[in-house]
Amino acid sequence: MIRFWGVRGSIPTPGPSTVRYGGNTTCVELRINGEIIIIDAGSGIRNLGVSLLTESSGQPIELTLLNTHTHWDHIQGFPFFAPAFIKGNRIQVIGRNSQPDGLKGVFEKQMDGTRCFPVPFSVMGAEIDFRHTDDVSGFRFHVGSVQVQACPTNHPGGCLAYAFETDHGRVVFLSDHETGCSDEPRILQFIQGSRLLIADAQYNSTEITTRRGWGHGSVDEVVDLAVRAEVKELCLFHHDPTHSDDTLDSMLEEAKSVLVGQGRSMKIQTAREGAEIHL
Ligand SMILES: [Zn+2]
Ligand SMILES: [Zn+2]
Repeated sequence: MIRFWGVRGSIPTPGPSTVRYGGNTTCVELRINGEIIIIDAGSGIRNLGVSLLTESSGQPIELTLLNTHTHWDHIQGFPFFAPAFIKGNRIQVIGRNSQPDGLKGVFEKQMDGTRCFPVPFSVMGAEIDFRHTDDVSGFRFHVGSVQVQACPTNHPGGCLAYAFETDHGRVVFLSDHETGCSDEPRILQFIQGSRLLIADAQYNSTEITTRRGWGHGSVDEVVDLAVRAEVKELCLFHHDPTHSDDTLDSMLEEAKSVLVGQGRSMKIQTAREGAEIHL
């Protein structure tokens, strides 16, 4: 099961024009083989934390937070993630080693206790362990019994995509990736034959022309990529903060028309906060 808690890129965008798809930044929950896996700690993780506390009803929570990269929209919710403040809970954070003080250093710096946030990271009572994917051979590792693979994306400062092997096929999370890059064969191989691809499709085919180098995908190129990789289901993700619900509807139509134009069929949907995907 995959549940979306934050589907927006860049900055939270609450308001009447985003009520249908949601305004929180990146946070996706996966439940695979009994493991609680969270991708990114954008503002959506606050509501996820509340939900986990209700579900656990006082019992210790164990979970893994996979971090794609430490741009603000992917870590800004962590200071508001209630389970991290509770002693007895165990959180494993896995991500890239952003120099010089590692992943933990970035999490600590956004909670410096004074300038950026009033409460220091050290106040968090849960056992929080940080692990770098760079230490793991071939970017392959396990979360419990779940096989996970990471893959660098095309994004300023670097970012990781993650793939999960499930009983129902491969699930790939590919956000903060600019399509049309020179090492696309590597990305194609990574997503090849996926049961589900959740992919950055921040821009439409016109917008991308003036946003090259910003590190995000366009709807037409993402559909093309997914078709070539024979993906079964595509989910458009990392919505632009300027895009209203109606704009996202029109981008889904653009995606479907690209597919029709290629004479192909594939299930395509737009990631919506609160929505679940059952494989
Ligand atoms: Zn982002
Ligand atoms: Zn980013």
